[in-house]
Amino acid sequence: MEDSCIFCKIIAGEIPSKKEYEDDLCLAFHDINPRAETHLLIIPKKHIATVKDMEDKDEPAMGRMLKVARDLGKKFGLENYKLQISVGKLGGQEVFHIHLHLLSAPN
Ligand code: AMP
Ligand code: ZN
Repeated sequence: MEDSCIFCKIIAGEIPSKKEYEDDLCLAFHDINPRAETHLLIIPKKHIATVKDMEDKDEPAMGRMLKVARDLGKKFGLENYKLQISVGKLGGQEVFHIHLHLLSAPN
């Protein structure tokens, strides 16, 4: 838990979110400012600021995030979607806790 991190606060329940899925390694919730009809964020429960900060031992959490994306795509009946991870400020990252965007595309 990183005190100043809004996604850590969502994990801790200190900031409300529309949760869609949770397990021991990750959490998925709806983006507050959706850019697509379905726009979910999938995050590791461990605070990792960016992909650059990921350690080898974090590989199971990263794999789980992709598996959860697959399952949520299916749950929402999405035939096509985009998975996106921004890395660094100039890479478009605004929240420095790794997150995988799941954005629906028109079916
Ligand atoms: P990025 O620009 O890749 O770092 O994405 C950050 C995303 O977090 C943006 O799409 C924001 O809309 C989203 N976001 C920021 N604060 C919240 C929040 N409290 N609940 C849900 N989504 C959020
Ligand atoms: Zn965090």
